[in-house]
Amino acid sequence: MSPFDAPVGGAGAEMHAFVRELFPICRSITGGGMRETLSRIQQRIPIALHEVPSGTRVLDWTVPDEWNVRDAWVANARGDRVIDFARHNLHLVGYSVPVRERMPLAALRSHLHSLPDRPDWIPYRTSYYERTWGFCVDHRTLMSLPDGEYDVCIDASLAPGHLTYGELFIPGATTDEILLSCHCCHPSLANDNLSGIAVAVHLAARLAGSARRHGVRVLFIPGTIGSITWLARNPDAAARVRHGLVLSCLGDAGAPTYKRSRRGNALVDRAAEHVISARGGDSSAIRDFTPFGYDERQYCSPGFDLPVGCLMRTPNGAYPEYHTSADDTAFVHAGALEDSLSLALSIIEILEHDVRYVNRQPYGEPQLGRRGLYGTVGGKAPREAELAMLWILNQSDGGHSLLDIANRSGLPFATLRAAAAALEDADLLARAPVTP
Ligand code: ZN
Repeated sequence: MSPFDAPVGGAGAEMHAFVRELFPICRSITGGGMRETLSRIQQRIPIALHEVPSGTRVLDWTVPDEWNVRDAWVANARGDRVIDFARHNLHLVGYSVPVRERMPLAALRSHLHSLPDRPDWIPYRTSYYERTWGFCVDHRTLMSLPDGEYDVCIDASLAPGHLTYGELFIPGATTDEILLSCHCCHPSLANDNLSGIAVAVHLAARLAGSARRHGVRVLFIPGTIGSITWLARNPDAAARVRHGLVLSCLGDAGAPTYKRSRRGNALVDRAAEHVISARGGDSSAIRDFTPFGYDERQYCSPGFDLPVGCLMRTPNGAYPEYHTSADDTAFVHAGALEDSLSLALSIIEILEHDVRYVNRQPYGEPQLGRRGLYGTVGGKAPREAELAMLWILNQSDGGHSLLDIANRSGLPFATLRAAAAALEDADLLARAPVTP
């Protein structure tokens, strides 16, 4: 069975369970939380783990020191922990340096971050490349802190170690590759980025069980520095990437969104637009490339210019819960994860099967009934299957691909693909020579 025909039912619940399993882990761009996350992924799909030493030069960047936290808190004069990393890992600013100090509230305040307009939510902050420390706290708690002396403890290490990332390569029949990439560096945040991880794991498992034209390479990396590190170490594999998707924010209740690659009209861009518009997505669902967001920034930097877009539901920054404690496991829905998986599979189906054909009987319509092609394809909607055959025969002059025909006819790509296979079997279609 093709991976595109298998039902996705039940996968949503499994993906949501994986999001809940990973949620408590304190991830960052390096360190034990990242390794723990990758080892849980490894229990599901056979990713290879790569360890790159701190200090390694990668493109214009340097792999940073490794960060690990044992404990972090702020306590009042009575010794009560008023802010405690053990209660929520968002409380500690990512990459905070070790601290053990007593200070008055006035001095502590410059290290505390809150969201006055969302007084119950803890914000998510990091300081990867500037050595400092801080705590994030809900504004209500911040306002309730009385003047006085506070003890601050950040029992963490920030020292030479490694950057860890995970990679799975599933070979295809050709050397062409599809790149799937998701960042894995956020602590307890569910939609950004555990939803992308869960969808990528299921997508990889689904694609691994089938014959494909493209190899599929799946990367589980820390944001920015991870894609830069992979690109620096893998110029040959990068050159084999024909299509790619960054997967992020795929579990919220919003409608799907696709952000185009820098090229703007790559097959992955046209495939995503087709799939989203076929599901009723409006023009706001398709966004042009911008040089910020996720790792598409690196894949689409001009030296690489890979055809990599970004598949999301509500985009990063466009929902209030983004980068706050409200992006929790309840914000992510099994149904949305399942829908995102099915959406990604539909896009990859087009990447795999968008072929140009030549009609071998182009003078008049070939007689389909005589060849047993009427009413035999796509039993559920025979009329649609017949229409699909007529569209393909009419448009297949070597200049139009199945996706072009899908867009012109308004018929689903999957229906056209099945019809083309039947016509090919009946010797009515031949594959047009592939143009690079
Ligand atoms: Zn983020």
